[in-house]
Amino acid sequence: TAPLLEVNGLAKHYPVRKGLILAKQVGTVRAVDGVSFTLNRGETLALVGESGCGKSTTARLVLRLIEPSAGTLRFGGDDITGIGGSALRAMRRRMQIVFQDPYASLNPRLTVADTIAEPMQVHGIGDAVSRRTRVEELLSLVGLRPFHAQRYPHEFSGGQRQRIGIARALSVQPELVVCDEPVSALDVSIQAQVVNLLKDLQRRFGLAYLFIAHDLAVVKHVADRVAVMYLGQIVETAPKRDLFAAPRHPYTRALLAAIPHPDPARRGQVKPLGGDLPSPLNPPAGCRFHTRCPFAQERCRQEVPTLRRLAPGHEAACHFAETLPAAGLDFAGGLS
Ligand code: SF4
Ligand code: MG
Repeated sequence: TAPLLEVNGLAKHYPVRKGLILAKQVGTVRAVDGVSFTLNRGETLALVGESGCGKSTTARLVLRLIEPSAGTLRFGGDDITGIGGSALRAMRRRMQIVFQDPYASLNPRLTVADTIAEPMQVHGIGDAVSRRTRVEELLSLVGLRPFHAQRYPHEFSGGQRQRIGIARALSVQPELVVCDEPVSALDVSIQAQVVNLLKDLQRRFGLAYLFIAHDLAVVKHVADRVAVMYLGQIVETAPKRDLFAAPRHPYTRALLAAIPHPDPARRGQVKPLGGDLPSPLNPPAGCRFHTRCPFAQERCRQEVPTLRRLAPGHEAACHFAETLPAAGLDFAGGLS
């Protein structure tokens, strides 16, 4: 059967203009620049990269909240790239989002019941009475109590608010849930609870997750596959186990090195990634990572590396992926 989601050559470019009258285009921000991946039903694909790498823009493109400059999107086998009107509304019910910030994403003037019921109302699902019943079911599914329905978001902790956001996303029985850094704003002690809840709900309802994260620590516990993004492009994709055991792209290695080692005695042995993320406005020529890569050669400054298959399901975009020294690979990356 076809993947639930197929993303092909997706791009989002913003022209940058100078001058108010007769503005001249002076450049192009390549926020997302040729991203392809698939996501199967019931699967979690993590999209990982530093802030500004284009992962949230990719999520918004997938949800059709913004229009792509290029590329195609297929959902459930159907091309949804250019659909609008009722077809787009019907499709929107099938993909929902859980936002990063549970403090900013819930309307403070709506009760929890109304917050959770709103998507059902928007999509014309059920009547007021059946929606009320459904809200109670959803509260219990996410570990909240029926009396919470009449309270307001400010009465809840961050973790509880994220549970409300998850209940809201699930209210319309989506097939895909985009989780945009759903635990980044939460205390570490709460993160695991929310991750476990997401995994439990995935098993129960066969949900597919596109899970956005800025580091690999959380991904380790939630992903089936991982796609690493750098400056608008995917630089490595692999099953989670392979990515952690045998990362091929130097950027992936750097992200793995940034995970604190569980053994404090071995922390601080790995150098963090030097330099700043270059601007997506006129990104570096050749390999976009060459300005920060410890292995960069002359070829890297000239020639763009494309994603190459290195093992089943494992691809990396580095000219030297096969031959890079294994030295420096002793990260905290091992799966616990
Ligand atoms: Fe580094 Fe060159 Fe590989 Fe790019 S192609 S990641 S610069 S070694
Ligand atoms: Mg973001």
